[in-house]
Amino acid sequence: MIDASNDPALVSWCESAQGSDFPIQNLPLGIFSAGERRRRPGVAIGDFVVDLSAIANLLDEDWREDLSQPVLNAWLARGADAQRQFRERLSEILGDERFRDDVEPSLVAQSEVRMHVPCLIGDYTDFYVGIHHATNVGKQFRPDNPLLPNYKYVPIGYHGRASSVRASGEPVIRPLGQRKPADAEVPDHGPSRRLDYELELGLWVGRGNELGSPIPMAEASDHIAGYCLLNDWSARDLQAWEYQPLGPFLAKNFLTTISPWVVSPQALAPFRNAVPERPVGDPPPLPYLTDETDQREGGLGVQLEAMLTTEAMRVAGLPPHVLSRGSAEAAMYWTAAQIIAHHSSNGCNLQPGDLIGTGTLSTESDTGLGSLLEISRGGKQPLELATGETRSFLEDGDEVTLRAWCEKDGAVRIGFGECVGRVAPRA
Ligand code: MN
Repeated sequence: MIDASNDPALVSWCESAQGSDFPIQNLPLGIFSAGERRRRPGVAIGDFVVDLSAIANLLDEDWREDLSQPVLNAWLARGADAQRQFRERLSEILGDERFRDDVEPSLVAQSEVRMHVPCLIGDYTDFYVGIHHATNVGKQFRPDNPLLPNYKYVPIGYHGRASSVRASGEPVIRPLGQRKPADAEVPDHGPSRRLDYELELGLWVGRGNELGSPIPMAEASDHIAGYCLLNDWSARDLQAWEYQPLGPFLAKNFLTTISPWVVSPQALAPFRNAVPERPVGDPPPLPYLTDETDQREGGLGVQLEAMLTTEAMRVAGLPPHVLSRGSAEAAMYWTAAQIIAHHSSNGCNLQPGDLIGTGTLSTESDTGLGSLLEISRGGKQPLELATGETRSFLEDGDEVTLRAWCEKDGAVRIGFGECVGRVAPRA
């Protein structure tokens, strides 16, 4: 799994790479624009984006057309081998001093670019693999029996909406919808009063599968082109009233925010771990979801963090309030490969550029809860901020920032960048 591109001894001639989210061991792809110029693919290195169209002469001729499109779908459709070869080449270009003079003029400061959703997303699906989140939410409805009987057999998910997926920085316009407080006889319609965030990882589908041809577990990892952060904004009051019997709808599809960089599976290779043992008494996964290699290395050693600032905190110059910290592998009952294998197991065809959310990744501990619904116990225990303000759910002007990174002895730390959204009042 680990190859020369993961070597911790590699150093980029781009000095800001060292110690940043984007050292030479990361090399995530994204789609950027600068000023009025067209959207195009770039690679993050330190504080910069490498404009791939400007260094096309250094890349394999066969790759150039796909790497000059305004979205990454065609490139990601080429599959895992092409991604690895491309990464090896980038590692050489950005690591070898001899390329510096040729490539340096093609670096654009990240502070001067706008990042976009990297793919034309055909379909977006959100799963529910965070078992502690599922338990915490289930407890609010069924204190004695929080997990439904299917949970430990089926990776639960629902089809979301692709049109409202946006890149980090997009304003979060407070959604309107039907709300029915418990003591009201009938619902009314208006701005959500219980707006929440959900801390998740996103998976980008690379190579797809034909309709009717499930992806077996042994091949599932090769269909994942990369990972991002994902904030599944949720209007809890709308959700509580509308969700039965068909599940989430308008409470979720008003906006989903993602971090714009596609962090490749190869960049994550040094941070894969064995999947944590299932608790004693839990059923083993059914055979179509079982794979020895995945059990050995399907755990994602990704650290996750969510932070909040309010308007008053920013005016007072206060640091962000840390809402949660925890690791993805401690939260995930099902692996990324199991998500892919299950999604396609009925013959459903996944397509290049599809986006899949893991579901909210809460840890067992109270310091790693991935939504305000959990942190405030459904609004019963508001959290207190340094300004003296309290929050059960998000108020106008509140800004949520998600971050993720991987670190481990013997490897160079890599980061995902940020996934930010600020709540805008409804005019
Ligand atoms: Mn979700």
